Amino acid sequence: MTTLFPSRRMQILLPLPLQGVLDYLAPADLPLREGDFIEVPLASKSLQGVVWSLDPPPSDIPEDKLKHIYGRFDLPALPDSLMRFVDWVAAYTLSPPGAVLKMAVSVPRAFEQAKSRTVYRLSVEQPDDLTAARRKVYDAAVSDMPLSVRDWADLAGVGEGVIRGMVKAGQMAAVEIRGDDPFPEPDTSLIAPSLSTEQATAGEHFRDLVRKDKFQASLLEGVTGAGKTEVYFEAVHEALLKPGNQILVLVPEIALTAQWLDRFKERFGEEPVIWHSELTPAQRRRAWWGVIQGNVRVIVGARSALFLPFQNLSLIVVDEEHSPTYKQEDGVFYHGRDMAVVRAHQSDCPVILASATPSLETLVNAESGKYDWLYLGERHGPAELPDMHAIDMRKFPPASGEWLSDPLREALKENLAQGHQSLLYLNRRGYAPLTLCRTCGHRIQCPHCSAWLVEHKKTGRLQCHHCGHWMGKPKHCPECDSEDSLVACGPGVERVAEEVEKLFPEARLAVMASDEMTGPGEIREMVASIARHEVDIIIGTQIVTKGYHFPNLTLVGVVDADLGLSGGDMRAAERTWQQLEQVAGRAGRAEKPGTVLFQTFMPEHPVIDALVSGDRDTFLEQEANAREQQGMPPFGRLAAVILSGADYNTVVTAARQLGRAAPRMAGVQVLGPTPAPLAYLRGKHRYRLLVKTEKQVNIQNVLRAWLDKTRFAGAVRIQVDIDPISFF
Ligand code: ADP
Ligand code: ZN
Ligand code: ZN
Repeated sequence: MTTLFPSRRMQILLPLPLQGVLDYLAPADLPLREGDFIEVPLASKSLQGVVWSLDPPPSDIPEDKLKHIYGRFDLPALPDSLMRFVDWVAAYTLSPPGAVLKMAVSVPRAFEQAKSRTVYRLSVEQPDDLTAARRKVYDAAVSDMPLSVRDWADLAGVGEGVIRGMVKAGQMAAVEIRGDDPFPEPDTSLIAPSLSTEQATAGEHFRDLVRKDKFQASLLEGVTGAGKTEVYFEAVHEALLKPGNQILVLVPEIALTAQWLDRFKERFGEEPVIWHSELTPAQRRRAWWGVIQGNVRVIVGARSALFLPFQNLSLIVVDEEHSPTYKQEDGVFYHGRDMAVVRAHQSDCPVILASATPSLETLVNAESGKYDWLYLGERHGPAELPDMHAIDMRKFPPASGEWLSDPLREALKENLAQGHQSLLYLNRRGYAPLTLCRTCGHRIQCPHCSAWLVEHKKTGRLQCHHCGHWMGKPKHCPECDSEDSLVACGPGVERVAEEVEKLFPEARLAVMASDEMTGPGEIREMVASIARHEVDIIIGTQIVTKGYHFPNLTLVGVVDADLGLSGGDMRAAERTWQQLEQVAGRAGRAEKPGTVLFQTFMPEHPVIDALVSGDRDTFLEQEANAREQQGMPPFGRLAAVILSGADYNTVVTAARQLGRAAPRMAGVQVLGPTPAPLAYLRGKHRYRLLVKTEKQVNIQNVLRAWLDKTRFAGAVRIQVDIDPISFF
């Protein structure tokens, strides 16, 4: 077949998980730009994609074998900076570019035009002979922004009939607009809090970087309660001063940021636009459109917000940059913090990484001078850092089936008597992590995962925290059938709450764990109720460490400070230190001084020592030295290759085959294959190889060469995790 009209070849990227670019033809006279949204045929379907290159490299496929695109959508093109970011992330993470593009455009109904609607604007100067009601409308008008009849009526406090009358009288003019309601603009004229000297110095530094409008990464380190948020709000404020500038603030868990949103509103008059996976389709669409049209000025979001189509990104802030929740561990494996730095680099704008407990990676960059390093050493106002002590559990063992030592009980009692709030921290959901048969020793395990089922007393269930499988708690042992011989082993937050309830029946308790609260609304309500001092003792998992500010909270008790220290994870100590320092940082944030007690069987452990002595520098230096000696990140490169499949033998065979084909070259070391720590997950067997290289080696090239040439028999899935942070 010959084409009747001249056409040109171009590369199209479809947002599909297994896809690279594909060649298509388009009519030569159809004006197309790179980034344009188009529709193309694929197999027998019609799909939406993006023009990726108008200048494709030569190809072996003859033109008459290529399909024609159907047409172009009347949408703004995907910004160039986002296209480059998609390519970069795909290459770095060894993911198909289509899978990365999918994260950038998976917006329901994004390609449809929003319905048009009519809004109205005052069209004549205020006449003298107005009715009282119409005068109210003139008085209420604060800007030139056109509004709906309903909004005008609400704003002026008049009936909708008044507005319609004004339209008829020609005092209001109709404006036809397409698209969703615009988002309100943040207000930059509000009075800012007065900053302390060290806050002001850091704030001014950031304002300067924003004005320079160039890439520069900075670490904003400050003790808990130092006012890091107020300081990076300075940068946000500066960026807002320039029309069109867009700002992205990443937070670890958007559902947990109620207090943060309130503070933003206090500073800028409006809540920012939020972005996370639980938005409704309509909210998602409106936010995405607002961003690509350049109307949204500030987005606060989870890591996926990095893939929004910003037109003019002028600042990125990564709050709590050490948080492991920035790492995505399915689909495209990427680290939101690291990718934020890349995004800022490509957009040529500053990026601020904020934390009281920075990651080793970021600290090394700050120490080497690659990142600017701003430090806030004091808590805001009269607040002091809390006193920290270890409780040696070998000296104060609780009775069997109990978890709180005498010194901690005493402290709770005293704090309660003083009318202050206390927090007990245990990073374990549910009632008990393990259920055991007293008669035969059987432990109840998930049938789909190599993990114990966790008892949840409230729901009467035994539940797998990996795959969601659950069963009712049985009366008989599933193995030996003995009756009433199943016992709960170890504590979860529910069980600690039970103990506290017995000890202090008069105290008001709240359990804060992700499965205790359903959705952001409930979390917000609980946080507000704690802040109003309607709770005496909070028992919580790691979600209570997320930057909360409860002025009356003066005692923090860590039920098991050793939890997380065992296991082969090279970050175990660093992460435990970060979590405990963060939870400790909830104590004594206002006038009343705080105390933190760590229950531990290893009071001499470097992590506990660093917390109690406050000598974080020595601890982190030792951690860094150990990593350097082992050539581990950030001093070397690391990747995990995970093989998984339903059939055990297929997986093992493939893993061995991959192991035998492992690259043998200087500076590259392959460890394994070994069963992954979670050797069975959601019905799949898992094996793992670790690839460790020297820093200057391009680990992606090594992996590509190795994995591309290996073919497997049978169904095996291979996932690559560059810079893995958890070893599961
Ligand atoms: P961090 O994030 O460093 O732990 P925050 O930013 O949460 O600290 O600040 C702790 C508390 O102190 C917050 O309630 C905050 O509003 C308040 N705060 C910090 N700096 C100031 C300031 N300059 N003026 C008024 N309040 C401040
Ligand atoms: Zn049994
Ligand atoms: Zn499971």
